Amino acid sequence: MPLFECEQCHCVDNTALTNFWQAHIEEKPQLCSACDPEIGKWHDKFPRIPAAEYTEKYPKARKVEYPAKGAAQSRG
Ligand SMILES: [Zn+2]
Repeated sequence: MPLFECEQCHCVDNTALTNFWQAHIEEKPQLCSACDPEIGKWHDKFPRIPAAEYTEKYPKARKVEYPAKGAAQSRG
């Protein structure tokens, strides 16, 4: 499951459980479910922990790889 670091609280969240891709396309800050005003609360699918702590615990965890900001709009 692709993960990302929230730009506001720097916790780890899953792209599938947030508006990550929508925010990416619109070039908005990528927020976890708790920081996203449209969601407003943590989903409780897994514990909310800081990205630094997560990386220490799960060094091999796959983080999301996405194109650089702006690239999504260059589709001709
Ligand atoms: Zn957050």
